[in-house]
Amino acid sequence: MSLQIAVLALQGAFIEHEQMFRSCGAECFELRQKTDLRRHFDALVLPGGESTAQSKLLRELDMFDELAARIRAGMPVFATCAGIILLAEKIADSEVHHFGGLPITVKRNAYGRQLSSFWAEEYFSGVGVVSMPFIRAPQIESAAPAVEILAFYGGYPVAVRYGNMLAMTFHPEITGDKRIHQWFTNNICTGNL
Ligand code: GLN
Repeated sequence: MSLQIAVLALQGAFIEHEQMFRSCGAECFELRQKTDLRRHFDALVLPGGESTAQSKLLRELDMFDELAARIRAGMPVFATCAGIILLAEKIADSEVHHFGGLPITVKRNAYGRQLSSFWAEEYFSGVGVVSMPFIRAPQIESAAPAVEILAFYGGYPVAVRYGNMLAMTFHPEITGDKRIHQWFTNNICTGNL
């Protein structure tokens, strides 16, 4: 049976992830309400969007605790932008805490108004040079030593792996290049690393 990937679909850029993972040979379905959590899934996608809105909806729909438990239990998670904010142990200048579990500190909307959205090209470990669209992106200010840094931009980490979590501050799902999604299914979902 092919890999079953659940994509959090409450808000933000989730459809593009489904297209990417389907092109990698996985099956995807959307998590929109609590009953969707009854279906079997092998991995979870936390898409970009607005982390505050996503977290609020997760609690209102009573999906937060169950997803938090799965993440804690080691389910593979692919997180982009707002998704990395949901996983971060610490959000700079804030007491807010969402799922946590990823020992990094992120600063929301760190690139400011002038440069809120832009594309970069950098090396991504294990994958090669990739395009990186940043959209009101957070910045990873610090990471625990156990966090593996897979890519940098401007001196800051922009892609990290920690256990079964792969998290990025940019949006690989809108580049038309599926290599990062494929790297996740090939390595993290299969336990190759
Ligand atoms: N700025 C958003 C937040 O703080 C993240 C932006 C994105 O996901 N593209 O949640």
